[in-house]
Amino acid sequence: MHCPFCGANDTKVIDSRLVADGHQVRRRRQCLACSERYTTFETAELVMPHVIKTNGSREPFNEEKLRGGIERALEKRPVSADDIERAINTIKSRLRATGEREVKSDMIGNLVMDALIELDKVAYIRFASVYRSFDDLREFGEAIAKLEK
Ligand SMILES: [Zn+2]
Repeated sequence: MHCPFCGANDTKVIDSRLVADGHQVRRRRQCLACSERYTTFETAELVMPHVIKTNGSREPFNEEKLRGGIERALEKRPVSADDIERAINTIKSRLRATGEREVKSDMIGNLVMDALIELDKVAYIRFASVYRSFDDLREFGEAIAKLEK
């Protein structure tokens, strides 16, 4: 980054240490042009993207909502809490991995379907029927066909 004092872009790191239990790197830098010193902090970007709903409005990512949808689909199905947790974490890391600030709710729906098809076929069909609302039989047939693949 540019020196905040003179704008030069040559700086050297004179000290580097882990802080905040290792979740952050603190770097002491010195500008090679003006010799001023300053500190930078580096942390992993773990912010979830916002969700663009089908009506175009935006809302913050809501993990409880995601969990609720998955748990409803899996109600009384033989799937362990650990597997559900793992599925939720996979979906969250795939959303973060997009690097986008906003993602369409459709994308989340598709990630949930991908997770459910692995976890439990009945839950997959349940979720798909609510989420896709299966307006016609053809769509329902497509969901079933995906299962058979
Ligand atoms: Zn400088």
